[in-house]
Amino acid sequence: MKYIIILGDGMADEPIESLGNKTPLQYARTPYMDLLAKRGNTGLLNTIPDGMHPGSEVANLAVLGYDVAQVLEGRGALEAASMGVDVLPGEMVMRCNLVCIEDGKIKNHSAGHISNEEAEILIQYLNENLRNDRLQFFPGVSYRHVLKLKGGNKQIGCTPPHDVPGTDFQQVLIQAKVPEAQTTADYLNDLIIQSQKLLENHPINLKRKTAGKDPANSIWPWSPGYKPQMKKLFEIYPVQTGAVISAVDLIKGIGVYAGLENINVSGATGLYDTNYEGKAQAALKALKETDFVYLHIEASDEAGHEGDALLKVETIENLDSRALKIILEETEKWDEPVTIAVLPDHPTPCRIKTHSNSPVPFIIYKPGNIPDAVEKYNEFSVKTGKYGLLTGDEFIKEFFKPSEP
Ligand SMILES: [Zn+2]
Repeated sequence: MKYIIILGDGMADEPIESLGNKTPLQYARTPYMDLLAKRGNTGLLNTIPDGMHPGSEVANLAVLGYDVAQVLEGRGALEAASMGVDVLPGEMVMRCNLVCIEDGKIKNHSAGHISNEEAEILIQYLNENLRNDRLQFFPGVSYRHVLKLKGGNKQIGCTPPHDVPGTDFQQVLIQAKVPEAQTTADYLNDLIIQSQKLLENHPINLKRKTAGKDPANSIWPWSPGYKPQMKKLFEIYPVQTGAVISAVDLIKGIGVYAGLENINVSGATGLYDTNYEGKAQAALKALKETDFVYLHIEASDEAGHEGDALLKVETIENLDSRALKIILEETEKWDEPVTIAVLPDHPTPCRIKTHSNSPVPFIIYKPGNIPDAVEKYNEFSVKTGKYGLLTGDEFIKEFFKPSEP
C-alpha cells in the first residue's frame, strides 16, 4: 500500500453571504473531491489542541499525529531544518525578521518585502560584525531569516512583529519569563539595538530609501526554540520512506523532523500562480519511489487571508482539477493500491482573514474499504461521515491502518 495526503492549506471556511451562504468548499465545483468522498470515508478532525494558537505549524503537526504540546518548538527550529541548518543540543534557534522601524515604531514586519538578494547581503553584513562563537545568522527568504544562539534560554516572551505594526519597538522588546532567562533576553535586546546601528546607513538601505522603499533597519528575533524531539513517521507507522512537497519553509521543516525527504518543484510559489500540475506530477513520481507523500498546497490560505471569497473558490477548484484529478486518474492505473486523504490544516475564514480553530473536514479513501454515505466534500457534508469527530493521532492512525478485509 502507498499513502498520500493532499493538504489544501486553510481551505475550510464559513458560509459566506456573497456565495449564497455557502462555504467556498460548498460553492466550488470539485468533482474529484466529491468522487473521493463518494468512494471513501469522511469525518471532521480537530487539528488545534485546546488553548493553542491555530498556526500552520500546530495544525500540520497535528495532522501528522504528533502531540503538539510536546514537540512544538519555535518557527525558527522548523525553518532552520528546511534551510539545512543543524541545531545541536544546547542551541536555541529563532526566526529573525528584517523589519522596518520608522520614528522608533515598527512600520512593518517585512522591511517592505525586501528581496532575497538585498536581504542576504544585510544578513552576511550582520554576521561579519556580530557573529561570535555563540551567535550566528542564517539568510532565508525575503525578510525571513534564522538566528542561532548557543546556550540561549527559550523561556522568553517575544512579540511577532506582524502583530504589532505601528507600535514603539521599545515597548515590545524581549522579556524574560523566568529569572534564568534574563541574560538571554538582555543579550537579544542588545543585539536588536546593535543591528539598528549597523543597518541604518548600510548602502543597501540608503539605496532603498532613495528609491522610496522601506529600509531593513532592524532585526526582530522571535519564536525561540530548541531542536524538536520528534519521532520519525517510520518509527511509528508502517511506512519506510516518505516525501514532502511544499513551498513553505515551516512545512518543509516539519518534514525534515518527520523523516520525510523534501522535494522542490520549480514554479511552486505558495501563491495563486503555483505550479499545480508540476506539484501533482512530482507527488506521483515521489509516490512511485517512496511509501508516503505529504503534498501541501498553500494558495487557499492566502486567499483566506485576503478575505477574497471568489479567489478562494478558484484556488479550491484549481486544487481539484489541476492536482487531485491528475493524482486520482494516474494512481487508478497502478497495480499497488494507494490510500488518499484530502483535508485542510485549519480553516482560514474570509470573514476574519486569519486562521480559526474549528475542526476541518477530511476524506480517507482506502481501496477495498466500504464507503460511507457521504457523496460531497465540504464542512457540513462530512458531519454524517463514518469517522465522526477525530482528535489527536486518530486521523493518521486511520489513514495508515491496513484495509479492512
Ligand atoms: Zn495562514
